[in-house]
Amino acid sequence: MTTKLLDKIQALKTQCNAVILAHNYQPDEIQDLADFAGDSLGLSIQASQTDAEVIVFCGVRFMAETAAILSPDKKVLMPEPKAGCPMADMITAGQLRDLKQQYPEALVVCYVNSSAEVKAESDYCCTSSNAVAVVNSLPADKQILFVPDQHLGRFVQERTGRDMVLWPGYCSTHVLIAENDVKEARRRYPNAVVMAHPECSEPVKELADELLSTGQMLKFAQASRATEFIVATEIGILHALEKVRPDAEFIPASIRGVCPNMKKTTLAKLVAALENMQYEITVPPEIADKARRSLERMVEIVPKD
Ligand code: SF4
Repeated sequence: MTTKLLDKIQALKTQCNAVILAHNYQPDEIQDLADFAGDSLGLSIQASQTDAEVIVFCGVRFMAETAAILSPDKKVLMPEPKAGCPMADMITAGQLRDLKQQYPEALVVCYVNSSAEVKAESDYCCTSSNAVAVVNSLPADKQILFVPDQHLGRFVQERTGRDMVLWPGYCSTHVLIAENDVKEARRRYPNAVVMAHPECSEPVKELADELLSTGQMLKFAQASRATEFIVATEIGILHALEKVRPDAEFIPASIRGVCPNMKKTTLAKLVAALENMQYEITVPPEIADKARRSLERMVEIVPKD
């Protein structure tokens, strides 16, 4: 059955001149069939450079919106349009406008995990892999409003020493990974390297050896001599890690690190997306034109790591 669906997807993909992009948190079988699987920065760059006419985005809504903004001439489809991101919903454009009124001189940096409307109100956009580089590129005398993730914001503040106002948003999946989970995993695997995503809570990050985006985790594990890694992020990344280091053991810091929205994509929904050209994700031009400015700045700043 699975082989039949995979064959069908390949045939439909060629017929429609489509490219399939999948986030590192997608189900294993979706990552495996994608033309490109990666983190938000890598996926945004792919979306902005592809020659395909159709982009099928296997991820959550803000990612498909980002692709639609960066590639306005392409058709962007999401197999499951209800896959949203609770963090992205934690700030509205109206709330950001109010914040800007309180700090009229500040620059706004928004995490890519935000709505198109919030991006349109922002000066710069960033992902977890280039947030430090983006903030470091801004004039030193400028205060920065960072939205919506307080945990990534605090990480950037510590790395850059910048004056930042943090919006109190968070990832509802990463905060489920508790300090005690990491301590317990460390007790069982005392020689393991602990890698944590900057979206984790501060006590979890305190316990980590390395703070890395998912793309950076893959590069780090590939270059490391260690053979055991405790991984504090969404568990979908374990599949990609095992592919780049088949000789190593990757231990999830917590089995609660599962993003239900990322798991909504299925092979059957992917077939339906290609067969029926559904579900198209569009962004109103007046919002997209403003949001594109902050997103283009984001894809231009690729950190050297
Ligand atoms: S893992 Fe967190 S930030 Fe990522 S899509 Fe899920 S809820 Fe949003």
